[in-house]
Amino acid sequence: MHIVDHPLVHDALATLRDRRTAPDDFRRAATRISVLLAAEAMKDVTETAVTVDTPLGPSPARRVASDVVVVPVLRAGLGMLDAVLELVPSARVGHIGLQRDEMTAVASQYYSKLPPGIEKSYVLMIDPMLATGGSAVAALDLLARAGVRSVRMVCIVAAPEGVALVEHHHPDAIVYTPAVDQGLNANKYIVPGLGDFGDRLYGTL
Ligand code: URA
Repeated sequence: MHIVDHPLVHDALATLRDRRTAPDDFRRAATRISVLLAAEAMKDVTETAVTVDTPLGPSPARRVASDVVVVPVLRAGLGMLDAVLELVPSARVGHIGLQRDEMTAVASQYYSKLPPGIEKSYVLMIDPMLATGGSAVAALDLLARAGVRSVRMVCIVAAPEGVALVEHHHPDAIVYTPAVDQGLNANKYIVPGLGDFGDRLYGTL
């Protein structure tokens, strides 16, 4: 568990939490916060030393050397994807589709497509709301079955229940988040949270 405490992250989070924020501003704030969170989560990505020619001559430089795979958990995770691809344009993308039953909050998988060789890649999973932890654990189970040993998970708001479930089932996964809120309400939404991330992102409220 890694709490990302940066004023720019919290500024974007305030916009996301604000109920008056419309989908266009919500999407922009989601991109802004995702860039900052992903940059923090990927601090340990492997690098290689290179030389590049500046207009004034050769300069030592560093390039990302890992084969990065970013895995958005559909559908809300898609709201963070462009931000990560902006940071790592060469990243490959695996998709995991999980649907939460509105009555039971139990996650079931409806889609999965992971890049070949993912077991050797540097994997960043993106899912903005770590609520019950059911979807996160289901997605991490799927990645583990695909042979992935180490996952960094970036979320925007977490609940203590979700953090505990992930820590219990996947103690090796590192969760990056700026906020662990009070808890879940009867409908398994994070309180105070920001509401339904996917609905606010896509205007499907
Ligand atoms: N998913 C959301 O979008 N919001 C929550 O509060 C919990 C799960």
